[in-house]
Order: sequence, then structure tokens, then C-alpha cells
Amino acid sequence: MSGFDRTRYFDNAATTPLDPRVKEAMEPWMDEGFGNANSIHAWGRLARQAVEKAREQVAELLGAADPSQVLFTSGATESNNWVLCGAVLDCAKVSPFEHVSVRDTVEAWCKDPYLGHEGWTVTPRKTKLASVMAVCNETGAVLAHPMCGGKNHSDATQALGKVPWQVGELDFASFSSHKLYGPKGVGGLYLRDPDSIKPFLRGGGQEIGLRGGTLNVAGIVGFGAAAALAQEQMAEDRAHAQVLRQAVLDENPDAKCNDAPDQSPFVLSLTFPGLTGESLVVEADANGFAISSGPACSSGKTKPSPVLMAAGLTEDEARATVRISFGRTNTLDAARQLGETLRLSAQSLALLG
Ligand code: PMP
Repeated sequence: MSGFDRTRYFDNAATTPLDPRVKEAMEPWMDEGFGNANSIHAWGRLARQAVEKAREQVAELLGAADPSQVLFTSGATESNNWVLCGAVLDCAKVSPFEHVSVRDTVEAWCKDPYLGHEGWTVTPRKTKLASVMAVCNETGAVLAHPMCGGKNHSDATQALGKVPWQVGELDFASFSSHKLYGPKGVGGLYLRDPDSIKPFLRGGGQEIGLRGGTLNVAGIVGFGAAAALAQEQMAEDRAHAQVLRQAVLDENPDAKCNDAPDQSPFVLSLTFPGLTGESLVVEADANGFAISSGPACSSGKTKPSPVLMAAGLTEDEARATVRISFGRTNTLDAARQLGETLRLSAQSLALLG
């Protein structure tokens, strides 16, 4: 892996590299700090302290009133599944832009699921839960959450630590550590009221009895450290992403930019009419760049993205779209080179027909 150049990694919406400062914070907890955070002896107490500090760091970034409202999970997929099977049994409204872990779960568990835009304000049926993601992982659109009279959930995976987003009046929010330079396999669920959800994993009573299983102390500590760093440097990260996306755009005046009126600077969705997104991903890869033609969890699927189509793209446009997602390790020079690579590749692929 040593030959990989992180400045050319433009798939930060799929995952971010571990920040070296986060790695440093995690290291003791993979070594002498191996205690079980539920044990009452000194090793356990030390691990418990580290977990609770991380809970405070994440709660602060979320704007949660109390750290006890944050439960650690394995990531946003788990948190989304938990809310949508643990908190709702009948009618839920889900925006058409949701991640597949929301869309599929609501369809599997809900007696009366509703995926669509219409009727957000006029509620045709009694909505028990509305789920609207904070930032769309495919387009970077920042979505407003029309609060329903029941419970409100937001998948904040692409928003937390990136755009100024906080839980506000929400009842539930989901997020993952590896989208903000923390480790993979750890994330969280914000619960305004712990009594509003059923236990997800039964076992040793961890996480106030709602999610059993020995805590991933090193991962949780890493998530806490990543949250604290994101809080400190959010403005800097955003300004950096803005400059990089402009550089890619400047090189590609003929591509259609799928920006929303309110847009996260970290994601750039570009459509190259007449081409396929995959062919551009392959060309970029051959030049040492990582970009994507859709979310990593949907790669290999042949259908055009339902999210892009809900955002107003035609089927052909959805197939001709790439996602470029910016992060801390990218440089302006690499962004310009990526922009040029995309422009030249699009020209030569168009000639090949
Ligand atoms: N929601 C959104 C908006 C995402 O972008 C992702 C990751 N692609 C997830 C949920 C799932 O996150 P994880 O794979 O960490 O569980």
C-alpha cells in the first residue's frame, strides 16, 4: 500500500483515512489499555473513563443536551436499522434520497412505508416517524428536515463534523466515525429519549441496556478524538473542500454539475452526458485517482441510482454521473490534475463512442 498517494484519494464520502492524531489517541487502548469497560477493577475503570470522555466529545459535536443520549454502535448502517426496526412498527415517511440502509429497512419492517417527496407538509396518513438524511451521500445536497408530528430521525453520516449540523429537535440521529477521519466499525445513535426505542442487541446490558456486547474501546476513543478534531477544524476543512471542488469544476465546464441550492462542499456530483460514470472511474483509477460512480455499498449494481433519479436526473444522466468527494489529504494540485484527467478522459471516451 506504500505507493498509494493520499492526495489523489477523492472518495472521502465512501470513507476517510484515519487522521494520524486519531491513530495516536487510539494506540494505548490497543495495548495496555485493554480492559473491558464494564469491569469494575482498575483496568475496566480506566477503559470506562476513556469511553465516557469519547461520549462527551461526540455529544458536543452533535449538540446533544447530555452525553448519555449518545450510544455507540458499529456505524450508521446499524443505527439506521435500529431506529427503523426498533422505533417504528407502522407508518414511516422516508425521503427518496436516503441511504439504502434506511430505504431497505423501512420497506422490510414498516407496515406502511412511504418513500417520496410529496405530502411532506400535508400528511395524508398518520406518520409515526419521518426520516430525512442531513446531507445526501450521492449529491452532497443539504436537506431540510420537515418535522412530522411523530418521531423524527436523521441520518447525519455525511453531515457530522463537516457541515454545521446539530441534533436540534430530532428524536434520533445516526452517524459513522470513518466519515470524519475516525476508525471504521464504530458509529453512534443519538437518542433524545432512551425510552423511545427497544434494545437492539440483548446481552450484557451495555449502553444503558439497549445494545449488549463488549465495547470497542479503541474504536470509541478514536471516534471521540475524531469528533473533537472535526469540531476544531470544521471551518478550515470546509474552506479547503470549496477550493478543491472549484478547481475540478474549472477544468470541466462541459460537465453538468448536480449541485443543490444548499450544498455540502465535500461532494461534487458531475454528469458527463453520453458516457458512463464507471468508464470515467476506471480512467481516473488508471491515473492513480480514486473517485466513484455511486456509493461504495452499491458498487457492482447495474441499475441507475434511484437517489440521483429522485434528484431529477434522467436514467441516462444517472448512469453518466461520477461522485468526487474531498477531504483533508487532497491538495489543490491533485484536484487540478484530477479535473484535467476527467476532461481529457471524457474527450477520448467520447471519440471512442
Ligand atoms: N448513511 C449514509 C448517508 C452513508 O453515506 C453511509 C456510508 N456510505 C451510511 C449511512 C452507512 O455507513 P456505514 O457503512 O459506516 O455503516
